[in-house]
Amino acid sequence: MKERLALEIKNLYGKEIENCTNEEIYYALLNASKALLDEKPVIEGEKKVYYISAEFLIGKLMSNNLINLGVYDEVAEFLASKGKSLAEVEEVEPEPSLGNGGLGRLAACFLDSIASLGLPGDGIGLNYHFGLFKQVFENKLQTAEKNEWIEKQSWLTKTDVTYDIAFGDRVVKSRLYDIDVVGYEQGKNKLHLFDIETIDESLVEDGISFDKEKIEKNLTLFLYPDDSDEAGNLLRIYQQYFMVASGARLILDEMKAKGQDLHKMNEYVTIQINDTHPTMVIPELIRILTKEEGFSTEEAVSVVSKTCAYTNHTILAEALEKWPLAYLEKVVPQLVPIIKDLDRRIKKAYPDPKVQIIDETNRVHMAHIDIHFGYSVNGVAAIHTEILKDTELNHFYKLYPNKFNNKTNGITFRRWLLSCNKELTALLQEKIGAGFKKDAAELEKLLAFKDDEATLDAIAAIKKGKKEALAAHIAKAEGVELDPNSVYDIQIKRLHEYKRQQMNALYIIHKYLEIKGGKKPATPISFIFGAKAAPAYVIAQDIIHLLLVLQEIVNNDPEVSPYMKVVMVENYNVSYAEKLIPACDISEQISLASKEASGTGNMKFMLNGAVTLGTSDGANVEIHGLVGDKNIYIFGEKSDTVIKHYEKADYVSKDFYEKSPVIKEAVDFIVSKQALAVGQKENLERLYNELLNKDWFMTLLDLEDYIKVKDQAFADYKDQAKWKRMSLVNIAKAGFFSSDRTIAEYNDDIWKLR
Ligand SMILES: *Cc1c(COP(=O)(O)O)cnc(C)c1O
Repeated sequence: MKERLALEIKNLYGKEIENCTNEEIYYALLNASKALLDEKPVIEGEKKVYYISAEFLIGKLMSNNLINLGVYDEVAEFLASKGKSLAEVEEVEPEPSLGNGGLGRLAACFLDSIASLGLPGDGIGLNYHFGLFKQVFENKLQTAEKNEWIEKQSWLTKTDVTYDIAFGDRVVKSRLYDIDVVGYEQGKNKLHLFDIETIDESLVEDGISFDKEKIEKNLTLFLYPDDSDEAGNLLRIYQQYFMVASGARLILDEMKAKGQDLHKMNEYVTIQINDTHPTMVIPELIRILTKEEGFSTEEAVSVVSKTCAYTNHTILAEALEKWPLAYLEKVVPQLVPIIKDLDRRIKKAYPDPKVQIIDETNRVHMAHIDIHFGYSVNGVAAIHTEILKDTELNHFYKLYPNKFNNKTNGITFRRWLLSCNKELTALLQEKIGAGFKKDAAELEKLLAFKDDEATLDAIAAIKKGKKEALAAHIAKAEGVELDPNSVYDIQIKRLHEYKRQQMNALYIIHKYLEIKGGKKPATPISFIFGAKAAPAYVIAQDIIHLLLVLQEIVNNDPEVSPYMKVVMVENYNVSYAEKLIPACDISEQISLASKEASGTGNMKFMLNGAVTLGTSDGANVEIHGLVGDKNIYIFGEKSDTVIKHYEKADYVSKDFYEKSPVIKEAVDFIVSKQALAVGQKENLERLYNELLNKDWFMTLLDLEDYIKVKDQAFADYKDQAKWKRMSLVNIAKAGFFSSDRTIAEYNDDIWKLR
């Protein structure tokens, strides 16, 4: 590899590496890596999985590709010998924001694991030119800008494959772009990203606004365009159909090229539908098979139903898509007769209105199509799947108990350990050998060092180094100075009321007032946040505002800032996560129990030696089970209690506010003179009123317990001997959360590729 790189540099620039900029080295390294990727064999097999997803939050690819190609160390050493740093070269790569959060990151981790297990499987998605959006703070409010990431030279390869995709009112040409997905010391699969030929980037005016009706020009500009009006809703349907129609063509073309019998599609292909966005692939395949391949409807429905499997990611009602039939009639009239036929079949078989595809208000329930006409329905953590079976999807579970199964999410250790924490990886290898890189369960061997002071100290020293590196980065990027000796308490995830960043903010207010009152914490604390909010989600914007207001108040108060700091980092993304996670002491996973399907941030933190402070929600429950009571901080009401509150509609936030002086004082601070002096009245008052009069995600229900348990965690941090052991146990027990384990389960139970 180093010869390739040297040659590439000579050909491109005609000068020595020593005299090249990081940018020049990056593009040479990109070419050299792509040449190496070209030589990797494509993973083959009788049966192949297609993972269709609106999101693939892949992050930068250089580091991971070099690791998976087995040349990372060689390149790093070679560059070092020339006075260059691979880490700095990697910074040149732009990060695509082709995802929103966990769901998209999961899809990316899965592609890595599918290839790393040597399984044939490709991703299918869209090539959004400006991704989600880039977050910029202005006047302590989030603003959205386009995230440009596509460059002349990139991992993206333009192919010759094009399709004409017909909508009700127009035809657009789709073109396939590919990104190679190389497994860890394995062959390669592909991520297929479709784009329109006629995209017009200049349609985007200031920020992220654009004419939503110019479909030929806008279709692949953004992920999740604003859907607060009809045009936005229609655009999302255009996008979804464009994705699945292009994907269906590709799948059928690949089958035909291999000489496979479409009548036995389910023996050669399985399609994993990631959340409801790709649901239309089901009626689209039925349409193609009946209209073009001579299938009877009966046979087409049967074979497609045996080919498609559905993953549910949430029980939040707003996320389960229900499209008005009239919208589908406008955008995809060719699918409407098929959807109506599927609906008739269900109405005939099952009179229960709760399981219908088209409801009495003529809305099409996309998840219901997936469940009835797919062969598998999986949740993403044990508790989530149980809630689906017992409550949210109970009516379906009764019809199809055998379709339901759980696949607890995972993360690829190549990115979330080997790449982002090379120091810890090296230490682990020294202590327990390299086996954990291929078999994550081997991390348990680390438990033998639970009382070994040298190992405990070495892990703590790595953590300290990562905290120093993060402090340096944050000082530069955000202008906030953090003390690496403080405890780093981190909450990074999309901004949503159910994730309860607002509860963390109330804790910060509480702590601030305590310190003002003379009660100092045993160890200084750094409260670190990162989160993007959906641009149309008003209360989420208000919560960001509150956090930025607190950042200003706390950090500028000389009485308080020696003991605590607050920072909300701008534009949280995968690259930022890779810096934040290894530096974390306390991992905030504080969603309202029953609401977080799994979480995967929680797993990344655990793997890097952070201790979880969390509710009994999502995969926190499984983390708790693995590490035991002594190595985690659990608080708050359990999911069954929460579900009962919703059923009885008996949660009244004001009661908690009035009962507890601590809660009252913290909530009141939001609209105090002090807060209003630095913040916007409109935002702060709206948030205050929301908490007091609605608080749909029950922040105040858990606040007192949160304060108590969090205080305990901070106090325990002082006992470093104890803390180091907790950290080690968390690392040792994280093996279960390797996405290699998750994918092996998908394959054994759902895909059955071999
Ligand atoms: C892992 C990850 C997420 C998901 O985090 P959760 O805490 O599970 O919600 C979101 N965004 C990025 C950039 C991630 O890396």
